[in-house]
Amino acid sequence: MLQDLKTLVDIESPSTDLAAISRVMNVVEGWARDLGAETRALPGGTREMNFGVQDGQKYLLVLAHVDTVWPHGTLKHMPWREDAERLYGPGTYDMKAGIVGVFHALRSFGKVWPAGGIKLLVSPDEEIGSPTSRGHIEQAARQARVVLVVEPPVADSHNLKTGRKGTGQYTLTFTGIASHAGNKPAEGASAITAAAEAVLALQALARPEAGTTISVGKIAGGTATNVVPAECFFDMDVRVSTLSEAERVDKGVHGWKPGDSRVKVKVQGGLNRPPFEQTPGTLALYEKARAIAADLGFELGHEVVGGGSDGNFTAPLAPTLDGLGSPGDGAHASHEHVRLDRWPAHVQLLTRLLQEV
Ligand SMILES: [Zn+2]
Repeated sequence: MLQDLKTLVDIESPSTDLAAISRVMNVVEGWARDLGAETRALPGGTREMNFGVQDGQKYLLVLAHVDTVWPHGTLKHMPWREDAERLYGPGTYDMKAGIVGVFHALRSFGKVWPAGGIKLLVSPDEEIGSPTSRGHIEQAARQARVVLVVEPPVADSHNLKTGRKGTGQYTLTFTGIASHAGNKPAEGASAITAAAEAVLALQALARPEAGTTISVGKIAGGTATNVVPAECFFDMDVRVSTLSEAERVDKGVHGWKPGDSRVKVKVQGGLNRPPFEQTPGTLALYEKARAIAADLGFELGHEVVGGGSDGNFTAPLAPTLDGLGSPGDGAHASHEHVRLDRWPAHVQLLTRLLQEV
């Protein structure tokens, strides 16, 4: 498993570099072909790999992604590094180890696939919201009996993910009127003042007790200290546990008006991933996994988490269980790592789930 993981990690694959993504995809597709899979490149770069999938029959769907949040050159200052318990490196935990785990599980089948077969979809752009893969993922989920997502378990634990918040991003652009801040301040309409009002008003739409959180994460505006600013914009992150909360926030964002009516406001964006609401189907899958883990000698919990994944797209369409990759910590952070002492047990768990579900 370490050798396979090193092969994937050595090929840096930021979401925006299609050529780099394709190099990792080719390695993964080679592993699939070695197992006799039929593989296909779908428009946008998603790869589909079919293990004994038969026309018209429902299959087991596995979701993975090869892109990472790390730019080229990251390996120089964040190299592959192992100690007794941990293996560090960009994209290890999120989620190249998850892909390696799937293939080690699949190799145990001896090319004899369960009824209906197993379909593996590998996305090139999960980290940027799955713009090209979403349609393929939803289409595949409509024919799936169940969906297993090999994103990592909850950080620093064995816990699987049985629900995820929905995620949204908005960009608000404010256009006011520029003017000399000393000579003619009243003729100006400040885009920064309007944006400042909006930051406070829109963040106040958050309702943490209902699972709704809102954070303006980026802002820029103005041209010079002595000019009333005509331009400002900000980007805002929204997380919701239910669709009705997403709608409430969306109305609030679109309905907001600045104190100075001369400032124009343009709203772009919205809900990107719907909430992955915990369903009886998902909990039943978790119960199955928990029993297998107990048999293997470890306790398996589950949680609803704030971050989204491609599981958010499939959860409304088929029972989805997420977090079946490798335990570890530090997703999107410089201490990203896989727990070597826990990883093999989770691959055994995934293997048995693929066999028994
Ligand atoms: Zn991921």
